[in-house]
Amino acid sequence: MNGDKIKEIIGKMSLWDKIRLCSGENFWETKGFEEYGIPSMFMCDGPHGLRKQELENGADMLGINNSRAATCFPAEVTTAGSWDPELLEEIGAAIGEEAREQGVGLVLGPGANIKRNPLCGRNFEYFSEDPFLAGKLAAGFIRGIESKGTACSLKHFAVNSQETSRFNSDSVLDERTLREIYLTAFETAVKEGKPSTVMCAYPKLNGTHCSDSKTLLTDILRDEWGFDGMVVTDWGAMNDRIEGFRAGCDLNMPGGSDYMEKEVLDAVKSGALPESAVDKCAERVLGVVFRAAENSVENFKADMDKHHKLAVRAAEQGAVLLKNDRSLLPLRSGEKIVLIGNASKTTRYQGAGSSHINPARLVSLPDAMADIEYTAGYNDDGSTNEDMIAAAVSSAKKADKAVVILNLPDSCESEGFDRDNMKLPDGEVRLIEAVAAANPNTAAVLFCGCALECPWADKVGAILYMGLAGLGGGEAAANLLYGKANPGGRLAESWPYSYEDCVSSPYYGKTKDALYLEGIYVGCRYYDKAGKKVRYPFGYGLSYTSFRYSDMTVRENSVSVRITNTGSRAGSETAQLYIEAPQSGIHRPLKELKGFKKVFLQPGESAEAEFPLNDRSFAVWRDGWRVPEGEYTLSVGGSSDDLPLRQVISKKGESVICGKDEENRWYSTLSGTPDQGSLEAEMGRKYTPPVLKKGTFTMDNSVMEMKDHSLIYCPLLQTTSLFAMPPKAAAKPNGFARAV
Ligand code: BGC
Repeated sequence: MNGDKIKEIIGKMSLWDKIRLCSGENFWETKGFEEYGIPSMFMCDGPHGLRKQELENGADMLGINNSRAATCFPAEVTTAGSWDPELLEEIGAAIGEEAREQGVGLVLGPGANIKRNPLCGRNFEYFSEDPFLAGKLAAGFIRGIESKGTACSLKHFAVNSQETSRFNSDSVLDERTLREIYLTAFETAVKEGKPSTVMCAYPKLNGTHCSDSKTLLTDILRDEWGFDGMVVTDWGAMNDRIEGFRAGCDLNMPGGSDYMEKEVLDAVKSGALPESAVDKCAERVLGVVFRAAENSVENFKADMDKHHKLAVRAAEQGAVLLKNDRSLLPLRSGEKIVLIGNASKTTRYQGAGSSHINPARLVSLPDAMADIEYTAGYNDDGSTNEDMIAAAVSSAKKADKAVVILNLPDSCESEGFDRDNMKLPDGEVRLIEAVAAANPNTAAVLFCGCALECPWADKVGAILYMGLAGLGGGEAAANLLYGKANPGGRLAESWPYSYEDCVSSPYYGKTKDALYLEGIYVGCRYYDKAGKKVRYPFGYGLSYTSFRYSDMTVRENSVSVRITNTGSRAGSETAQLYIEAPQSGIHRPLKELKGFKKVFLQPGESAEAEFPLNDRSFAVWRDGWRVPEGEYTLSVGGSSDDLPLRQVISKKGESVICGKDEENRWYSTLSGTPDQGSLEAEMGRKYTPPVLKKGTFTMDNSVMEMKDHSLIYCPLLQTTSLFAMPPKAAAKPNGFARAV
C-alpha cells in the first residue's frame, strides 16, 4: 500500500485509535481495526529460524512454551564462521519462506550486537567482535528474508553487549567508540540490507533509554542512515511512551496492556506532544502491517527438505578447524574410529532463550555416525565419574582414532545471564585429557556458542569447532570429519588463552551499569595492539587443502589479489583485507578488517578476490568521519595473523591530531587495566553511579536494589513485598516486570 493511502487511513482514525495501534494486541500480534480496514500482523523470533508460538498454548520471550516445528538453522555464531554474506542471504530467504507458510509477517532478527566480552550469554546470537564483519553478514541475512516479502527486525539497537542487568543497566561509552564499534554494524546492515524494522534495546545508552532516544532512533537511524521503516521495542523495553513517540519509537511490544496510553492522549490534548508524532509512528506501523498482508500467500508451502540441506551446508561452511596436527583429519576409510560423548548421545545445536526453535528434524553427531562404536564419557551436565572415564579410555585405546564430542551445556550459556567463566565443565576437561593420553590420535569436536579456554588443546591432535550448528549440525560434523566436506570457516572472534587476557575481564558484568572503559579496543583490536598472544586469532581457520596468495593490485577504489588452491582437495578460502593506519596523531588500532571475500576453488584453480575501498575504510570518528592523512599499509591473507601480501599507500586526508591530555589516556598505551578517568576524558563528562535512595526508585531499579531502602522490606523474612514496587514498575505491559 502506498504512502498516500496509508495517510488517508490515518486521516480517518481517531487519535485514541492511532495511539492504540502503536502497541500490540497481545504477545505476538499487532492490533487489527476492521473499521479502517487494518489487518493485524503476527511476529515471532528469529534469528536462526522461526519460533512461532500458538497464542492459546502460552506465549513467552524465553523459549519456555512450545512453538511450531521449523528449520533450526545454525545460530549466528556458526553462520558468522562462514564469512559469507551470500550464504546468510540464502538462510534469510529460507526463513522468509517458512514465515510465509506460517503466516508470520515479521521475524525478530538478526542480532548485530558486538561481542564485546566472551562471557556475554547471548554471544551465540551475535555475529562478531568486529563491526565490519557483523554488518556485512547481518545485511546479507536481511536482504534474503526481505526478498521473500517477510519483514525482519535488526536488533538490539544499540549497545546491548551483556545480559547482566540487561533490563535496567546503562551502557556508558564515548561517541567515538559508539560510532566506530557499536553502531557501525547496524549502520551497514541498515544501509546495505534495508530491514523493514529495527528493534530498540533494553539498556540505556549514556543515560537515556533507547526507546526514548530521538538521537538514536531519529537523528542517527533515520536522518543519517536513511532508515524508513518501523522501530519496535524489545519485549518490555518501552520506558516512557510519550518520549517514545517523540523519539520515533513506533510500536510497543509485547501488547495486551494500555501502558501510558492515557498519558499520551492527555499530552497530545494539552499540546505537550504534537499529534504529528503519533501520526508518524502510526504510519510506519501501518507500512509494515500492510506490506505483510500484501505479501501473505494462502497455502504456501516451504520446501523443508531443501531447507534442511541448506542448514547442513551452512553448518559445514561455518565450522572452524582449529587444529589438525599430522593431518589427523579427515578420518580415512579402513581406520577404526570410536566416538565418545555424553550420556544422552546428543550434540548441542542451539542456544537457550527467545531464539529457541522446535527443530523439524534433528540429526546429532552420534546419529550421523550411528555405525561407529559409541561410549558415554560424561553426563549431560558435563560431570563425569571414574567408571565413565575408564570406559572411554578403554574404547579409545582399541581404536586408531578417537573422536570426542564436547558440549557446553545450556546451563552455562543462555540468553538472560552471562557466563561465569570461559571454561568447559571440569568433567569434560578430565575426559578429553584422559582420552588424549590414551590415544594420541584424538580429535575433539566442540559444540558451544562461544569462545572457550582450551588448556587441553595441546594434548589433542585435532579440534573442530562447530559452534551451535543447528538441526543438521551432526550431519555437517560427520561430513567434515570424513572429508566429504572441507572445513573453510574462520573465527569471527578471538579466542584468548584465558579470560584474564580479555581487556574488560576485570570489570565486565560486575556493576549494574556497563562502563565501556576499553573504548574501541575490543577483541583483536586490543590483543593486537597490547601485544597479547591469543590461542586462536580473529579470522583464523584451517582447511584440508592449502592456498597461495599473489598478484596484489591496489587501485584508487579497490584492492585485488589472486588466490590459488595449491592442495589436492576442493575447498574454500576467505581472503581478508586489513588496513594499518598511521600510529601518529589520534590513537588507533594497529589494523582493522576492511574487506573480505570467500572463494571456492578446485585443486589447482585460482580466482581473483576484489575488495572495494572508500573513504570510510580509512576514517576515524571525531565529530564526524574524518580520514587522517598519511601512509596506510594494506595487507591481505587468510587470517588476521597471516597476511602475506602488503602494500603501503599514501592517503590524502586531514590532520587529526590528539591533544596533550589525550596522550596520557589508557588508549595510547593499552597498558594495564583501562581506567574510568580515561573514559571520562574521552566522553568529556564524569560518570557517577546512581545513588540508591528511598523515594527515587523507578522501574529501572530491581527489587534487590530496593530491598535495603524500602519500609516494606522485612529483614527477618529476607523478602520484599511487591507492593514496594514503584507505581510505574507495577504497571508494566502484561504484568511483565522488567526490573527483577
Ligand atoms: C529478546 C528479543 C526477542 C524478544 C521476543 C526479548 O527478551 O531480547 O531478542 O526478540 O524477547 O521474544
